[in-house]
Amino acid sequence: MSDLSPSLAVSDLFAGYGRMQVVRGVSLEVFPGELVGVLGRNGAGKTTALMAIGGVRRGVASGSVVLMGRESFGRRPHELAEAGLAVVPEGRRIFREMTVADNLRLGAFVRRRVPASELAADLARVYGIFPVLEIYRERLAGQLSGGEQQMVAVGQALMARPRVLLLDEPAAGLSPAVATELYERVRYLAHEGIAVLVVEQAVERALVFAERVYVMEQGRVVLEERAEHLDGEQLSNLIVRGSQPAGS
Ligand code: ATP
Repeated sequence: MSDLSPSLAVSDLFAGYGRMQVVRGVSLEVFPGELVGVLGRNGAGKTTALMAIGGVRRGVASGSVVLMGRESFGRRPHELAEAGLAVVPEGRRIFREMTVADNLRLGAFVRRRVPASELAADLARVYGIFPVLEIYRERLAGQLSGGEQQMVAVGQALMARPRVLLLDEPAAGLSPAVATELYERVRYLAHEGIAVLVVEQAVERALVFAERVYVMEQGRVVLEERAEHLDGEQLSNLIVRGSQPAGS
């Protein structure tokens, strides 16, 4: 991947709440077609970092976020969306009182003047990835299972035709089987060329599905490695214990 440019390049990202620094100089990259995991224990700053990258105002931030080759730090969420970034925050922010199909159509709103034929083709593509959503397309989204709602949230993000997709704990609260199904679809999206950055609590799951992982601790990246070079048990221990730099 060395001669490719990253779809997302974050450097020296700082973010926090008031005087509390939560993210302290995070740098990371995601290349086209890569699924990259961000791991770390509770409170390590993963969500805050993701939301600062995504322009979702959660506290104050500084740094550089280069999206598809252009500096995008500090741009508003709709500008970032137009530039190719989609964010799926934790907790399925979908419209429960709207149908599945309307939720998906809403996702295309960031693209101005989408011809009806394009919209239909994009909907068909999302239904191809998540067939259950086509079956339930006229149902209220709030009536779907947790896993199906998460598929709506990801599907909605896809309707914006993102080049970079940020997912915050997409499998939270899902059964292992549904989580696996969801991740298989997300991996497929990466294979299609989308750069996917996902915050994940489950170490083993991240190692199965991600090509590369970053481990965060106290607001910093303490490890970056290809998943195939990592051992799940050792990595879990590192995350639970915290890294112990030599000499400390
Ligand atoms: P988790 O997996 O538990 O969500 P995380 O690694 O995603 O953890 P963050 O959610 O980024 O971590 O939280 C990092 C720190 O920032 C925590 O100490 C948390 O209490 C604090 N924090 C998060 N959101 C806010 C907020 N809106 N206002 C103030 N402090 C916050």
